[in-house]
Amino acid sequence: MVRVNDNFQKLPGSYLFSTIAKKVNEYQQANPEKGLIRLGIGDVTQPLAPAIIEALHKAVDEMADAKTFHGYAPDLGYEFLRNAIAKNDYADRGCDITADEIFVSDGAKCDSSNIQELFSADCKIAVCDPVYPVYVDSNVMAGRTGTYDQTTEMWSDIVYMPCTMENGFVPEFPKETPDLIYLCLPNNPTGTTVTKSQLQEWVDYANQSGAVIIYDGAYEAYITEKDVAHSIYECEGAKTCAMEIKSFSKNAGFTGVRLGYTVVPKELKRQDVSLHSMWARRHGTKFNGAPYIIQRAGEAVYSEAGKAQLKEQVAYYMKNASVIKTGLLEAGYTVFGGVNAPYIWLKTPKNMTSWEFFDYLLENANVVGTPGSGFGPSGEGYFRLTAFGSYENTVAALERIKKL
Ligand SMILES: *Cc1c(COP(=O)(O)O)cnc(C)c1O
Repeated sequence: MVRVNDNFQKLPGSYLFSTIAKKVNEYQQANPEKGLIRLGIGDVTQPLAPAIIEALHKAVDEMADAKTFHGYAPDLGYEFLRNAIAKNDYADRGCDITADEIFVSDGAKCDSSNIQELFSADCKIAVCDPVYPVYVDSNVMAGRTGTYDQTTEMWSDIVYMPCTMENGFVPEFPKETPDLIYLCLPNNPTGTTVTKSQLQEWVDYANQSGAVIIYDGAYEAYITEKDVAHSIYECEGAKTCAMEIKSFSKNAGFTGVRLGYTVVPKELKRQDVSLHSMWARRHGTKFNGAPYIIQRAGEAVYSEAGKAQLKEQVAYYMKNASVIKTGLLEAGYTVFGGVNAPYIWLKTPKNMTSWEFFDYLLENANVVGTPGSGFGPSGEGYFRLTAFGSYENTVAALERIKKL
């Protein structure tokens, strides 16, 4: 008899964003005259930059001619893109990462959920709390997390590292040494980050304990402060303990285009086995490459015109972040993030729970955000607003919030 993967049955009920969508739809149906402003989901809204559109058109035309047509892409990515990444994201920042340590993919969500396949089922994972849900759920599906406790909202076999205002949203080294450590910096959902020297401490910790860091740098382009690392490989010794996952979604608006990459350094070994070789094998077996057209679009991200246009796009969102942050501060809120990331993390007023504040904001300001508790138990009492809306909507939303 066919038996299903029981681990899927362990996943707790409804997904955060579907619960939000349901509540918002119900409210809108009951109040059709109200104009809602959505500062909830982490999706971009600005169109692709002209340099990227141009590269896409050119690549499409190439596909129309047998002489320039491209079939299957190389499993690990085209050289032109891997070289552009190695130069711009690494060499120019003084990081010693070569093109053949870069694995091009169709996005960071897939990579961050697939990467756990390289490790045994009894490896213990550590995550920040609150956290991007993909890291936890992909390990649940793989049977690595034990049982779920409804009351604590925690898995028995996961090491949680609370990130709250009490510790400045900097995770502390766990008492129990984990095998895999997920770090997303700058962070989704809190919008906060750590300094380069704090990151160096994590690299030292991993090297000393033998743990592997899975570093999600999806929001790297939003860093504005000088003492924040743009790559974990800016830290000494990171090549022997860390993999880095990057996405084109947030820096270049590729959420609907799909492109990302993962760096696995050749020095990264455990039990004398090269994780680089394992990931290459995995890619070769399970993945047939990101589309040629999209990889050409990715190359354009690193062209002079592309870089200039995307700097403006990121600045546009960061102007929204500043509108949200200063508006909330003026209204008397306690606010975090929004300086190195397009997320603002606020403390709910009057000890409201995250969901109480969600309803309050929806009903009284007609603004949609995301309850912090949806990202983990330590997110309770917090709330996330994103800077990915239009400038006009962001300004209007803050006017409404200030009037509450
Ligand atoms: C948006 C986001 C990603 C990007 O995922 P893609 O699949 O590349 O679109 C990755 N990690 C985090 C934490 C994110 O918020």
